[in-house]
Amino acid sequence: MMHARDFTASGVATHKDAGQLLDQFCARFAEHVIITRSEVGARLETVIGSADIAVNNDRLDIKLRCPTAAMLFTIRSMVAENLFELSTGNALDLNWADGPQPLAIPNFREISVVDAYDVTPHMRRVVVATDDARHFVEGGMHVRLLIPPKGREPVWPHTEPDGRIHWPKGDDALIIRAYTIRSIDLDRCEMNIDFVVHDGDNVPGASWAMTARPGDRAGLIGPGGGVPTARKLILAGDETALPAIARIAASVPADADLRIFLEVADKQEEQPLTSSASMDITWLHRNGAAAGTTDTLECILRDIVPAADPETFVWAACEQKQARSIRAFVKSEIARDPGTFSIAAYWQR
Ligand SMILES: Cc1cc2nc3c(=O)[nH]c(=O)nc-3n(C[C@H](O)[C@H](O)[C@H](O)COP(=O)(O)OP(=O)(O)OC[C@H]3O[C@@H](n4cnc5c(N)ncnc54)[C@H](O)[C@@H]3O)c2cc1C
Repeated sequence: MMHARDFTASGVATHKDAGQLLDQFCARFAEHVIITRSEVGARLETVIGSADIAVNNDRLDIKLRCPTAAMLFTIRSMVAENLFELSTGNALDLNWADGPQPLAIPNFREISVVDAYDVTPHMRRVVVATDDARHFVEGGMHVRLLIPPKGREPVWPHTEPDGRIHWPKGDDALIIRAYTIRSIDLDRCEMNIDFVVHDGDNVPGASWAMTARPGDRAGLIGPGGGVPTARKLILAGDETALPAIARIAASVPADADLRIFLEVADKQEEQPLTSSASMDITWLHRNGAAAGTTDTLECILRDIVPAADPETFVWAACEQKQARSIRAFVKSEIARDPGTFSIAAYWQR
């Protein structure tokens, strides 16, 4: 049902094989959103809004609906970018009915580093300042961190009339990684972002955190991804999900009931979490196993999710292969209602 605060946009994509393009588009998002196919096309539902896409000969008629203008922008650029990517070699023409889009990306903000320090041996906190911390309070806890090349004046992205984002290229190319805003200090206009310091030769996200110095500039696009609002929650994840789980725990009301399972390398990686709700936290140590190689989280969820009452929301985030197994179990094996879980791949081994 549409309500007064919905933001909508409609567009037409013309492509010689529009039906196949929609099939590919749905296949790409099958793991991440709820897709309902119909005779005319498909409906994609995400936590930030929906897209109805109908095939009409060589056209895709697209209708987007979101609760905020920023979410509408995000979903429009996501639809545009993916349609263009999938139509490589076949001309695609995409026009939005509501005319030219603003040049600036509405949910982009520049940040500068204030401080950086270790929270645990493998978790580094970077404190960043922004002119507009309030912008990051609502709409989700995740951001895309845009890391500019070292020693160059950053060139930030802007939007194209077709809804795509124009990214700087060549020497100005940015590196983009997803992170969670662990906490926001509105009085100081500062935010904490916690980075897992993991192994690897070329790890731009982790390296940015390790070398961050006061005054370093970067960009953020977001926030997005939503925050679960259920009163009863099972939260599970590895170190990359720890900031999100900490943020969820801090945001829930006092009458919420949280069961938390966190897989970390060892005891030294445990962190205190605060919440006004009752929390039952289980720390799981890998004891020497490499991150992303265990099935501990899946085993625990197999044990407790079937017995949890149906209103309990199950939230998990971890390595891609682990997330896929957990999702297959929750979605297919025990066929939980799609609105009662969110299982995300946060990184890929
Ligand atoms: C919505 C969302 C929120 C996230 N929030 C956070 C957050 O708050 N804090 C955080 O630290 N991460 C977070 N992540 C995960 C983070 O985006 C990935 O770990 C990312 O790959 C790190 O980028 P990188 O440049 O360091 O390594 P990449 O260049 O992406 O990868 C280089 C190598 O490192 C390996 N690698 C990547 N991440 C890890 C890891 N965690 N452990 C072991 N090996 C790894 C890869 O397998 C690869 O071999 C989040 C991801 C998502 C999708």
